[in-house]
Amino acid sequence: MSTDAPSAYLYKETSPSGGRTIERATGVWIYLTNGQKILDATSGAAVSALGHGNKRVNKAIIEQLDKVAYCHPGFYQTEIARDLADFLVNSTNGKMTKALITGSGSEAVEASMKLARQYFLELSPPQPERYHFIARKGSWHGCTIATLAAGDFKARKTMFEPILPTNVSRVSACNPYRDLLPGETIPEYVKRLAEELDDEFRRVGPNKVCAFIAEPVVGSALGCVAPVQGYFKAMKEVCDRYGALLIFDEVMCGMGRIGTMHAWEQEDVVPHIQAIGKTLGAGFIPISAVLVHEKVISVFNKGSKYFAHGQTYQSHPAACAAALEVQRIVKEDNLVKNVQEMGEYLGTCLRDRLGSHPNVGDIRGRGLFWAIEFVGDKTMKTPLDPSLKIATKLHNMGMTRGYDIALFHATGSAGDGLEGDHILICPPYIIG
Ligand code: PLP
Repeated sequence: MSTDAPSAYLYKETSPSGGRTIERATGVWIYLTNGQKILDATSGAAVSALGHGNKRVNKAIIEQLDKVAYCHPGFYQTEIARDLADFLVNSTNGKMTKALITGSGSEAVEASMKLARQYFLELSPPQPERYHFIARKGSWHGCTIATLAAGDFKARKTMFEPILPTNVSRVSACNPYRDLLPGETIPEYVKRLAEELDDEFRRVGPNKVCAFIAEPVVGSALGCVAPVQGYFKAMKEVCDRYGALLIFDEVMCGMGRIGTMHAWEQEDVVPHIQAIGKTLGAGFIPISAVLVHEKVISVFNKGSKYFAHGQTYQSHPAACAAALEVQRIVKEDNLVKNVQEMGEYLGTCLRDRLGSHPNVGDIRGRGLFWAIEFVGDKTMKTPLDPSLKIATKLHNMGMTRGYDIALFHATGSAGDGLEGDHILICPPYIIG
């Protein structure tokens, strides 16, 4: 019987891949049970930085399993969790002080939001009235209840609105392709966005906001939208003015994906709390983390010294072993440099070959994190007719090369005039 036959497995049958079954994967290649070969041009969900089947990582996991597979993270520490936390903090060149190790991107972002909330309760005197978050339009922060509330991915969110917390409001994303006004300079655009954030702080109540949360480079909802120069500096100044924290969600764009270890390195800004995931463990075992600035840690140290957050699979030893080995390989093999070089090459190829196509509105990206936004009309920037299912077609056309290409497609996702129709191209860091 074909392994694509119906089974009890709950699966999204409408995915561009048609829910086909993978037999095996190696390097940047995926092989299906139906004999098809696919170039993993998206690292799965922007995860598999090392591609598939890395023997070193597999070995590190087994060695850890042979030592200890699991222990209560609240009662015991493991060497591997400490080593990973040290590695991650060192990767920030001393800008961050501690690392909390969690399981998925959603959990890391949710823990970041809770940390921000508890920070204001730990302050002396405490500021319990600070529980509001300002997020951005066209963002995606995860699928748990709080992260869904922070995000703005309408297709995944609307039906759950009645059960979502309402302590989140939203300002514009920094999306120059869609929002830069005719004749407006970049500094003027930044000033306009900073004023919008300032207005939102004052509307909510200057002492009610605990954090502003943003993806430094917006991933799935808008498609690799990077900030203009000076944007995050201006936004942090507004946060500082009102004593609120800055949370960066680097789950998708962090850990080397855009050509620096941390996305904030390109913005000349250090967040107070940073969520990472995806390429941290590169898909070998689920893992994510929260990196925390000394400003926050010092307040906890003077206060309860305890973050009220306990998850069964926090700091999972085998996941830590996988992530630490992945990160060692990224470092030893200079893969972030490959991300820069191959990213530049990819961007040039995309622009040279597709830039003048009448339905290609924008080609944008950093590192190995690229998107093509399709439009019906280049001047009006109207969305492409979704019934054309462009990514599904690209996915299945075989590319006349004997293999298909896995692409990441989103359409009409953000709402509020931000919706686009784009594909993401984010190959493994090992791509040649
Ligand atoms: N934050 C961002 C920016 C993401 O792109 C994602 C996932 O795509 C998440 C958070 C949630 O991560 P996860 O799906 O691992 O829970």
